[in-house]
Amino acid sequence: MDSTDDAQVSPHQTLRQVRRALEDLVLFEGRQFILPDQVSEQIGADPRPPREDVSAQQPAPELGASAPAVATGRVTSEAASASGGGELASFRQQICECTKCELGHTRQRFVFGSGDPNADILFVGEAPGADEDRAGEPFVGAAGQLLTKIIEAMGMKREDVFICNVLKCRPPNNRDPLPEEVASCEPYLKEQIRMVAPKVICCLGKFASQALLRSQSSLSRMRGQQHEYEGIPLVVTYHPAALLRNAAYKRDTWEDVKWVRRIYDGVEL
Ligand code: SF4
Repeated sequence: MDSTDDAQVSPHQTLRQVRRALEDLVLFEGRQFILPDQVSEQIGADPRPPREDVSAQQPAPELGASAPAVATGRVTSEAASASGGGELASFRQQICECTKCELGHTRQRFVFGSGDPNADILFVGEAPGADEDRAGEPFVGAAGQLLTKIIEAMGMKREDVFICNVLKCRPPNNRDPLPEEVASCEPYLKEQIRMVAPKVICCLGKFASQALLRSQSSLSRMRGQQHEYEGIPLVVTYHPAALLRNAAYKRDTWEDVKWVRRIYDGVEL
């Protein structure tokens, strides 16, 4: 992988490393795409990535600074509520005290989701982590900061998209969600998708992808395939936490989000 014992590095390996570094520069130049280790360093993150904290490739002029911004009527976290979220805001109010599953008794904060209630792009992750549980916001930890950078690399702002999770409450100790928890919570996600009515859904990680696609396939099998969720194009990519663990995923992730952007731009279905 990227880490190599200096004493054993051959000129060929060194050249490969230099080439990879140059490719990274080309890939993310001008988009402030921060490499995973830099994110952790900047925010003093725990080396063990939080649940919401992931993954990515190649120069993408079509995603450059000239990309049009999405029209907004933003809904910041706390409330898809307080701002102009309308239907979505009142839905949040209806379900924010939910105790349909055990997680409703162990959470600190309910994490509905945040962003533009009329967003054309909807990102779906797995479940809140510790930072999100404290903040009541999705994707605010190290992985969340990386997701923000990925969105910016797509030529957009975080506020232009809608971000949520399959589960609205944190599983204790970041354990995997249980099937019964997913069964209890998934109707909320379905409603959110119906209300936001995005042009494209981007599933972050295996868990969200399996949940929405009703599949037990591995992430590698689902990635790169054309999917639909109730008629909406769906792209599968790595969770930002996976990117924090393994920088090699960033190239594939970059390809995936470029695909999302092309669908958003109407260039590809
Ligand atoms: S995880 Fe979902 S179903 Fe369970 S208590 Fe939280 S909101 Fe309700």
